[in-house]
Amino acid sequence: MTAINTFMGGRKTKRIRVGNVPIGGGAPVAVQSMTNTDTRDVRKTLEQIERLADAGCDIVRVAVPDSDAAKAIGEIKKRIRIPIVADIHFDYKLALQSMENGADKIRINPGNIGSREKVKSVADMAKALRVPIRVGVNSGSLEEGILRKYKGITPEGMVESALSHASLLEEEGFDLIVFSIKSSSVPLTIAAYRMLSERTSYPLHIGVTEAGTIWKGTVKSAVGIGCLLAEGIGDTLRVSLTGDPVEEVKTGREILRTLELSNCGPELVSCPTCGRCRIDLIGIANKVDERLGHIGKNVRVAVMGCAVNGPGEAREADIGIAGGDGEVLLFKKGRIVGKVPEDKAVEVLLEEVEKL
Ligand code: SF4
Repeated sequence: MTAINTFMGGRKTKRIRVGNVPIGGGAPVAVQSMTNTDTRDVRKTLEQIERLADAGCDIVRVAVPDSDAAKAIGEIKKRIRIPIVADIHFDYKLALQSMENGADKIRINPGNIGSREKVKSVADMAKALRVPIRVGVNSGSLEEGILRKYKGITPEGMVESALSHASLLEEEGFDLIVFSIKSSSVPLTIAAYRMLSERTSYPLHIGVTEAGTIWKGTVKSAVGIGCLLAEGIGDTLRVSLTGDPVEEVKTGREILRTLELSNCGPELVSCPTCGRCRIDLIGIANKVDERLGHIGKNVRVAVMGCAVNGPGEAREADIGIAGGDGEVLLFKKGRIVGKVPEDKAVEVLLEEVEKL
């Protein structure tokens, strides 16, 4: 269950639908990811999409570099439970083919398609099939004219680029538009989205592009996406990581949970430990964290090192432990329910979580 973004009142955006997932207009913030398999390899792509959906991915995007990949969308679409987005660069025919094969949304920049007729053919089919189009500006691929006008990469230039791409669709009477306006620089990303959110009511797909490896990319994404969400900006998000895309979904879900925009799955509260701790709290917390990941319940679990702050946190949790000397106190819904030897702490805690 994901909650609606009400930070700063939540920016009011237009509601669109990607398959059966609503985006914008007060809908819960949807988590997206992108496969890194060869889309033409239907079996591998399906396997990865299944793992992404299990991790909580609401919408998946696949690369469509050629006609065979566009064709594969038809096969993939029949066997998945989440909407699929076709990612296309330049070739309008691939956009048409992807939509014919059932893509629920396409990502293409109209300014890169070519002639007005080509833009019109994409806009007309998207309108007829009610397929939204994401206009995605990346700071690294801004048009020459914009770079000259703004003397380099600036939020103003990124916003102008996004709006001018979208205007080509609007001129064809198409308005099922989602914007993204990303950079690998967090301050630039935040500034650009802030500015764009003042200039449009189309829903915004937020993220920090090419954020890096899992560790650094997670921090960058959490800061960038977190800042925007806390300002009420962002209707759907993608964390971009160099690694297994399932990590992107887990990180995206955790960002939403941290901002209390999502309450699905368990939450672990654990202390940093200090000289008062007399148990292997770090080991216990890591084991609990790993095993909690497989439990889909909305529970708050506390793993605290000692009786100084421990019982307080543990009492606020659904289930918690506070360390003693070679043993732990077990708390359930605010009440002490027993003492457990340290080496049984993980098992007993998880059993209690399962029982809830
Ligand atoms: Fe230290 Fe206890 Fe606080 Fe953990 S709960 S940091 S062990 S004082």
